[in-house]
Order: sequence, then structure tokens, then C-alpha cells
Amino acid sequence: MERKQVIIIGSGPAGYTAALYTSRAGLNPIIIEGHEPGGQLTTTTDVENFPGFPEGVMGPDLMANMRAQVKRFGTEFLSTKVKDVNLSKRPFHIVCENGQEFLAETLIISTGASAKYLGLANEMKLIGKGVSACATCDGFFYRNKIVHVVGGGDTALEEANFLTRFASKVYLLHRKEAFRASKPMQERTFNNPKIEVVWNTEAQEILFDESGVTGLKVLNNKSNEITERKTDGFFLGIGHEPNTKFLNGQLALDEHGYIKTQGQHPDTSVAGVFACGDVQDPYYRQAISAAGSGCQAAIRAERFLESLHDSKA
Ligand code: NDP
Repeated sequence: MERKQVIIIGSGPAGYTAALYTSRAGLNPIIIEGHEPGGQLTTTTDVENFPGFPEGVMGPDLMANMRAQVKRFGTEFLSTKVKDVNLSKRPFHIVCENGQEFLAETLIISTGASAKYLGLANEMKLIGKGVSACATCDGFFYRNKIVHVVGGGDTALEEANFLTRFASKVYLLHRKEAFRASKPMQERTFNNPKIEVVWNTEAQEILFDESGVTGLKVLNNKSNEITERKTDGFFLGIGHEPNTKFLNGQLALDEHGYIKTQGQHPDTSVAGVFACGDVQDPYYRQAISAAGSGCQAAIRAERFLESLHDSKA
């Protein structure tokens, strides 16, 4: 079985940055990219908040560039997923879906978090054409437009408030008659004159034409009345799911399933395993913060390997 100094699982900005740093440090990492390399940014269009691109950059292009940059320095790319890991002793044992197995002295986990979607017809097809799960990323494109946000937790209310910087009107659709978001967030929302809450309401269908989203068909779950509402944008704020199932409980997670890291460092509950990007970050969830944490994980892995070497010397 091949034994590696560093294996990186996940290929978003965090994973590619970790690969860039560890390959330039001569550690010859493998990055296990999954079946769709590039992560969440491959499903967005314009990215205007990643530094270094004065005109902005398309999400898929940004990820292709990151991958190409990594390629220069000798990272090995594997397009499969990790099925199983054994973190009970080092070297860690990694089993891939394609049957390949590896031993790793250090592991960097950057498998991200997936935004939850409602599962409506055409919802995924309309991402970037009016459907979004990231107000910070896409809010700017809705200047003076009408948008709807769905959800009743902190994410939805934060997104709704953020969107009022741009949109002329923000409707917040919630399936219940009360929010579960924190009290201060609720107060902010109720005090924002641009936000109107639509209670007891569920989106049933996204209406669209060739230009993108045009409206929503919604159900009032109290009156059973179905109505159509005009909108230019439909933002999902119903939560995220960190991609940690393959870990089978071998790392400490927080109450929402995110990998726990230690203070300002990307160290996890197992020495030699580091986590970076959205899989350990329910708060910032940005490409640039993920990339930054990928750099930190790489440097920590490098120093961990050095410390093993020193202790043997
Ligand atoms: P939550 O799980 O707290 O809330 C999800 C919301 O989406 C709920 O209101 C839920 O409705 C609704 N929802 C879920 N599925 C559906 C569906 N299929 N159809 C319609 N509505 C649906 O997730 P969040 O992402 O909001 O928050 C996760 C954690 O992160 C929380 O602890 C939160 O406090 C924290 N957070 C903190 C922030 C901050 O401090 N600034 C910002 C963002 C998150 P229902 O209520 O009916 O179940």
C-alpha cells in the first residue's frame, strides 16, 4: 500500500491551497478530489470578492486556475471519493471508492459543507440564474430587485438583512409562524423596513423564463391557498450540511456536525489530522477564508512532520 506524507481530501479553495503549500514544501501530496473537482464555487457564476481579479472571475474558472497552479508543483490528483478512514493510529488508513488504499502520515480534510436545497424542480438548474444559497456571494447582483429568502434560522435572517443593502424589497418565506433564529437577529429583521415576513408559507415551484427566475408558486400551509409571487431572486437559507459522514465519528464534531478545530489552529481531535475550509467553519464560509485556512492546515501538517522527524533524530 502506498504510504504518503500528506493526503488531502476535498478539492475546494481550502484543499487546493493546502495542496499548493504542501507540494511546494516538497511533501508530494495526493489530493482526493471527489467526482466533481472544485467544490461549491463550480456552481456559481461571477465571483467578485476573491482578491486579485479586478474584473471578477467566473467560479469555475477560479477553481480551474487553482487546480492548474497546484499541478505545477507535483501534487497527484485522484478523481474518486474517500469511502472510509481509520484514524485510530498513524499512519492513517484511507480507502477510496475506486478501491485504492493509502497510508498517510498526515491528513488534511477539506471536504466542505453543502448548502441545503429544497429539492424543487429546476432548482439546481437555476443556480446562478436567480437561485442562490449565498447572499454574500450573489447579493450584489440584485440591486433594486425583489428577492425572496426561505428559512427561519440565523442563516436565513442574516441573508435577508444582508440582501436589503441591494434589493428594493426582501420577502422572507417561513413555513412556521415563529423563527428559530436568535432574538437579536429577529429584532434586526423585524426592524428592517425592507423585509416583509411571509409566515406559514412554503415554496412549491420556481417560475422562470430564458432570463432566469421570475417568480414563485407558494402554498400557505394554513389556508391551503396557492398563489404566485413575483421575484428576481430566490435565496435558500435553510442550513448547510458539513461533509463529514466518511469520518464515522472518528473526529470530534460540534453540535451541527462541523469538525472541531483548536482555537486559531486547524488541528483536530486526532494528532496529525487537520481540517480546513467550510467543513470546520459554520461562520465565514467564504472562498478566501477557506483558502487561508488551507494554507494554515498545510503549514501545520508540515511542522507536524518536522516534529516527527526531530523526535526520531
Ligand atoms: P437552522 O437549522 O438553524 O435553520 C434552518 C431553517 O430552515 C429553519 O428555520 C427551518 O425551518 C428551515 N428549513 C429547513 N428545511 C426546510 C425546508 N425543507 N423547507 C422550508 N424551510 C426549511 O440553520 P441555520 O443555517 O440558520 O443555522 C445553523 C446554525 O448556525 C445555528 O446554530 C445558527 O444559530 C448558526 N448561525 C449563526 C449565525 C450568526 O451568529 N451570525 C449565522 C448563521 C448561522 P423550521 O424552523 O421550521 O425547522
